[in-house]
Amino acid sequence: MDEAKPSVVLQEVSHVYVSGKTAFLALERIGFTLQAGEFVSLVGPSGCGKTTLLSIVAGLIAPTAGRVEVGGKAVTGPSRQIGYMLQHDYLFPWRTILDNSLIGLELHGNITEGQRSEALGLLAEMGLGDVAGQYPHQLSGGMRQRVALVRTLVTSPDILLLDEPFSALDYQTKLQLEQLIADTLRKWGKSALLVTHDISEAIAMSDRIIVMDRRPGRLRRDIRIPEEIRAASPMKAREMPGFHRLFGEIWNEFEDMEARREPL
Ligand code: ADP
Ligand code: MG
Repeated sequence: MDEAKPSVVLQEVSHVYVSGKTAFLALERIGFTLQAGEFVSLVGPSGCGKTTLLSIVAGLIAPTAGRVEVGGKAVTGPSRQIGYMLQHDYLFPWRTILDNSLIGLELHGNITEGQRSEALGLLAEMGLGDVAGQYPHQLSGGMRQRVALVRTLVTSPDILLLDEPFSALDYQTKLQLEQLIADTLRKWGKSALLVTHDISEAIAMSDRIIVMDRRPGRLRRDIRIPEEIRAASPMKAREMPGFHRLFGEIWNEFEDMEARREPL
């Protein structure tokens, strides 16, 4: 753990969506800490508030109640400390891959030659060196997600928020990208909060898994992943005996939530 890097602290975070005359309690008293360098996954049924929670941490939504701190300072809006990667890559079709990966930097001012070559270096590291001058439609889904990752990393955030970044990919591409992200984050000591509906992915990638409940969105379990699984690559982790036990444990949490779900 790198002491110079910030941790994220959530204290009693609640959020109510108001539309017209109705109010909907999306999150209720969420509290946890993401330590510097830690990888935490958020899993839970659809609609339990995972995206809302990420948007609050990103400073895009102000919570109705409670507080989020990054490095001891209250979050009051978006900042360069935090990179947010969405499920869909949202690349601009008329911009080259290099120009797409520079968008985040452009929002912060003019781009220097140094930043340009840094982006090119990152693209090369992600296996995209040869396509830097091409356009998004020329790339596969997995490649486009890697461009989105470069675009997120190029602004040098300490914390990455990843909202189902692998869900539109085929299985093999997803495993490769999991590996790439795990290696990259570990190398640079970055923290991550990953939203996923894939229990295997959560176990294979994380230091901890937070299971959320819905109506209202609450914390249900905070599960620490055993050291031997954490030390293994996302691919190898899936073959370990402890993996299947954990999978069963989390699966049961989902079954319990499903069993007492009221009809919609
Ligand atoms: P998840 O990402 O876990 O599927 P979300 O955070 O997207 O959940 O949504 C949590 C709940 O809040 C859902 O019931 C959703 O319908 C509701 N919700 C999300 N965004 C809004 C909004 N802008 N206005 C009203 N309700 C919303
Ligand atoms: Mg969501």
